[in-house]
Amino acid sequence: MALVNEHFLKLASSYLFVDVAKRVNAFRVSHSKTRVVNLGIGDVTMPLCQAVTEAMHQAVDDLAHAESFRGYGPERGYDFLREAIVKNDFLGRGIRMDVSEIFVNDGAKSDTGNFQELLRWDNSVGMTDPVYPVYIDSNAMIGRAGLCKDGQWTGVTYFPCTAENGFVPQVPDRRVDMIYLCYPNNPTGTVLTREQLRQWVNYALRNDALILFDAAYEAYIRSDDIPHSIYEIKGARRCAVEFRSFSKTAGFTGVRCGYTVVPREVTAVTLDGLQRIALNQLWSRRQATKFNGTSYVAQRAAEAVYTAEGRRQVGETIDYYMGNAALMREKLTAMGFSVYGGEHAPYLWVKTPGGESSWRFFDELLYGAGVVCTPGVGFGPSGEGYFRLSAFARREDCAEAMQRMKEFLKGEKVKR
Ligand SMILES: *Cc1c(COP(=O)(O)O)cnc(C)c1O
Repeated sequence: MALVNEHFLKLASSYLFVDVAKRVNAFRVSHSKTRVVNLGIGDVTMPLCQAVTEAMHQAVDDLAHAESFRGYGPERGYDFLREAIVKNDFLGRGIRMDVSEIFVNDGAKSDTGNFQELLRWDNSVGMTDPVYPVYIDSNAMIGRAGLCKDGQWTGVTYFPCTAENGFVPQVPDRRVDMIYLCYPNNPTGTVLTREQLRQWVNYALRNDALILFDAAYEAYIRSDDIPHSIYEIKGARRCAVEFRSFSKTAGFTGVRCGYTVVPREVTAVTLDGLQRIALNQLWSRRQATKFNGTSYVAQRAAEAVYTAEGRRQVGETIDYYMGNAALMREKLTAMGFSVYGGEHAPYLWVKTPGGESSWRFFDELLYGAGVVCTPGVGFGPSGEGYFRLSAFARREDCAEAMQRMKEFLKGEKVKR
């Protein structure tokens, strides 16, 4: 008899976006004439840039000829890509990183979910609230998150991020062994300054904690005061691993490529407290067993992002999305909404009018305006009373959604 891993049974039965899709489908059935405008998506919509697709075509040709064919690649990634990463993403910002500290993967989701398996199940874990669901669910699967009661996990220390604290998580007053931070943040679209991030690095160094830093949205930062990498903070090499992705940077959500940075100095301690184990070696060992590398074509595509043409073209697409964000910020503010984020990230985090619950406002917006948002509470208890809008849509759709929301609000005011 095979016994199930019962930790899996503690997970919420369906994923947030499945719940959203169900409600949208029900609406479509009863309102078949309304065109739904979807600002709930967390996926990019613009195609790959030319520099990338040319590199992919070339890579396919490489695979078509015996002289240039490649089979299994190194599981940590090809040197051509890892060297481009070290040179452009780190040296370019004055950060020293060795190629051996870069692990190329098939996108950040796998590693943000998997990395925690290097740490014992009974470490304490903390994360910002609201949060990207992968961090919680992957900790729940190994039994570290405890039980979910009324939307709160008993084994997780939450760092609430709300309008009241300016969306800046407070370092805890007790020990937490593993800390997840995501900046620029999904879902709130907010950022941490260098000084604010420094407080977390200092906390981790003082408490011998590990920070798992998700920088999937660093390419959206528009100000020099906001760190792109946690390694811009002194001491972070001793206490942090960082996750990066080409998904939001260059539209690779379907291509699949990202990387994890594990500096040589990051360690965890054995239960008897006698040995410090380098996580770089452990992750390398783990990957050698469970991962067989990212496809050659995807890695050549990622390499092309760092060429002069690639940078310019990728930058244009990011500017386009950030133009959407600016447009929506302006219109929503004019409508009287309290709007957060969207200045260094492709997400806007908005307070529901009159303190309505996230799901109630979701339904009202869907039925009143045919616009889909993401209910804030779906990302954690502190998301209640907020909704998220994504700037990863077409400009016309963002403008149309704003117009519809304006009319919908006018009607609401008349009704009330
Ligand atoms: C989109 C996203 C990622 C990247 O996921 P991929 O697997 O690389 O496509 C990572 N973290 C967060 C918070 C995200 O929103």
